[in-house]
Amino acid sequence: MRKIEKPDISPTDPRILRGKELAANLEAAFKGGVLNPKTANHYATFKDALKKSHKNKCCYCEASLDRQHGDVEHFRPKQRVTDEHHKTQRVRIGEEEINHPGYFWLAYDLDNLLLSCAICNQPSRDDDSDSICKGAKGKWNRFPLDHPERRACLMNGYTIEDEEPKLMHPLFDNIAEHLVLGEDGRLGSKTKKGEMTICILGLNSANLISWRLKASREGFEILPRLLRNVVDNKVLDVREDKKIIWKIMHEEEEFSMAYWLGLSAALMNIRKESGAWVDGWLDSIVADVEATFGT
Ligand SMILES: [Zn+2]
Repeated sequence: MRKIEKPDISPTDPRILRGKELAANLEAAFKGGVLNPKTANHYATFKDALKKSHKNKCCYCEASLDRQHGDVEHFRPKQRVTDEHHKTQRVRIGEEEINHPGYFWLAYDLDNLLLSCAICNQPSRDDDSDSICKGAKGKWNRFPLDHPERRACLMNGYTIEDEEPKLMHPLFDNIAEHLVLGEDGRLGSKTKKGEMTICILGLNSANLISWRLKASREGFEILPRLLRNVVDNKVLDVREDKKIIWKIMHEEEEFSMAYWLGLSAALMNIRKESGAWVDGWLDSIVADVEATFGT
């Protein structure tokens, strides 16, 4: 997981204005007694903008969305809410306790919209009986809180600012504070929130570990290979290596966290063996790739 940017869309964009109108209608319906107002798929109109701001990668696992459509994902689920064990969440509105209707009023809010791969979003089998989030893997309707009694629901006196999510938000959380990538390709957690995020999304699946290892290995190889290609004057190969470095620097590559891990390890090795000159060389490479591929 890497920190991502919110799509760059003006607050006066017609899609935003229409989203606000739809959200206001849903809110009015709920306050008028409709306990589970149905959202329209207007959020799909943001999909291309999300794809761009996420650099065409899943917001959770960093897999490329080149080979799949990607799901517009609501961080706070829009239609139903469950905890980490897929248990439906209830909420008290006045004298009545009801199933939480979902955060329908945030269905078109850019702070709540993400783009994820189907594997991270949709439920899939989980055979790990020691899991801290028992049940199928995948985000789905799960949105666990540290104090579920303070879950926001428009008419119960709580807002989302009162909530303490157990799940990391790729727009707002500092990823390095919660997660660390190991040399074995596994994500480790520094916090309970990190641990829960790994568990719910299945971020240590066998596939993800093997893809991260591959990316880390490629990251490790790129600098020594570039050095060799420069010495051998292989102009086209040098250009290709620099392009990959640019993509790593700008996190355009899938699994860029793993690429960085490998690249940083290689840099330390070169520095140890060859001295500090490598820093100046690297600075010139960075300036060069920005000038070549940055526009
Ligand atoms: Zn994913």
